[in-house]
Amino acid sequence: MAVGADWQQADRTPLIYDRSHPGRRGVRLPAPDVPALDEAALLGPALARTAPLGLPEVAENDVVRHYTALSQMNYGVDTGFYPLGSCTMKYNPKVNEWVAALPGFQRVHPLQPEDTVPGLLEFLASMESILGEISGMDAVTLQPAAGAQGEFTGVLLMRALIRARGEERHTLIIPDSAHGTNPATAAMAGYRVAVVPSNVRGGVDLAALRGLVNGDTAGLMLTNPNTLGLFEDEILEIADVVHSAGGLLYYDGANANAILGEVRPGDMGFDVVHLNLHKTFSTPHGGGGPGSGPVGVKAVLEPFLPGPRLHRAPSGALSWDDDRPQSIGKVRSYYGNVGIVLRALAYILSHGPDGLREVAHTAVLNANYLRARLAERYPTRYDRSVMHEFVLTLAGQKERGASALDVAKRLIDYGVYPPTVYFPLVVKEALMVEPTETESKETLDRFADALAAIDQEIDATPDALKTAPHHTPVGRLDEAEAARRPNIRWSAGGGRPEPTGP
Ligand SMILES: *Cc1c(COP(=O)(O)O)cnc(C)c1O
Repeated sequence: MAVGADWQQADRTPLIYDRSHPGRRGVRLPAPDVPALDEAALLGPALARTAPLGLPEVAENDVVRHYTALSQMNYGVDTGFYPLGSCTMKYNPKVNEWVAALPGFQRVHPLQPEDTVPGLLEFLASMESILGEISGMDAVTLQPAAGAQGEFTGVLLMRALIRARGEERHTLIIPDSAHGTNPATAAMAGYRVAVVPSNVRGGVDLAALRGLVNGDTAGLMLTNPNTLGLFEDEILEIADVVHSAGGLLYYDGANANAILGEVRPGDMGFDVVHLNLHKTFSTPHGGGGPGSGPVGVKAVLEPFLPGPRLHRAPSGALSWDDDRPQSIGKVRSYYGNVGIVLRALAYILSHGPDGLREVAHTAVLNANYLRARLAERYPTRYDRSVMHEFVLTLAGQKERGASALDVAKRLIDYGVYPPTVYFPLVVKEALMVEPTETESKETLDRFADALAAIDQEIDATPDALKTAPHHTPVGRLDEAEAARRPNIRWSAGGGRPEPTGP
């Protein structure tokens, strides 16, 4: 297939605004039988409209084709390979959607009396205990709406326990390979960040850690495997160093896909953990949501969890208990992103313990297979076998004239969503690849072949990389401007309006 052939049609589909014809209508409404409102009197002259809005005038099928064309321009895990490192963009089985859409779940109102939704409360309670079992924790809250909010909740819990002990500690230790949300969380919770460097094997430098901990250490935030896809095999010693100084251990569970059913954060010595349900337990995510970041804690932290908590009466009935004097308070409206929790529960129950273990095994196998296939042209900085993802360094490609960004953009022309670029920061020209367990060997081979072909293009046809992608509706963007001042507004007079920024 010609590169990008499947884009060509969407590329040429005119937008709805260009299909507008004066007088064309999608619906015919009867003439109104109530008096027209006097807008100027109601709103005042400053707000009242003086000219028609200038909406496109189109038939119903124009509208349908417009939105269908837009949906076909979108790229998702249902359309192709999405090896976005750290994000775990795995295929989401459709049975999860069916479960979450059952009327008894979908039509529940968050303010409905709790005795009218006993079934839903049972599912939430079983999700709490299942996640506790998977992570090795004693109590779980389903409230946080994402991993980052889980981190914030977890760090507030640590702070509450430290204060309850009558102590003040001001520093959180975070590795130099950490996800950006970790230091951001620490800062938002009012902590100073002390950065612990990576050692030559890509793990936490234990000697440096020993030098950093002291009476001001509130704790260490860590993900294991870390963002390089490497397992911290000195984790028990790391935990010991932090605990001996009176600090706590926070587990960033975004990489739990690698360890499901094999090893639990609770057994590695962690006191608090968040899990990204939308990553590990297969929920559609990307583009900013939706997510769910439940937090699990060891028993000593339970009194501080956000309320309300599910409480089971001697009769067996569940209800919400908000009588929690030591709680850090609510972190999200209602009871969390219940639809996401239900999808994740469906995923967990349909796999069972053996199925979840197989998820981790296959994710690790796929990552190591792909890493080996790429190794000749694209090395990893640390020559170790990896867990569920790996980070390539394109420093060699950069010397030959192509940056990690150029290679990533060119991959779009080959029909692949580009891997994460320039993260983690400890690797030069980083390309972070997470194949996940849901991709076939043929898909991984095609990806490896595409990267090999692109590597040859660097010398043969360098312009093809510099100007990629070529077959998308828009080409190389100024990414900072596109994110900060996106031009997504149409104006009636034709032409493109000046971008308006926040
Ligand atoms: C995704 C991710 C987070 C943040 O999780 P969100 O659900 O996106 O808020 C934190 N740490 C790591 C390592 C991640 O990959």
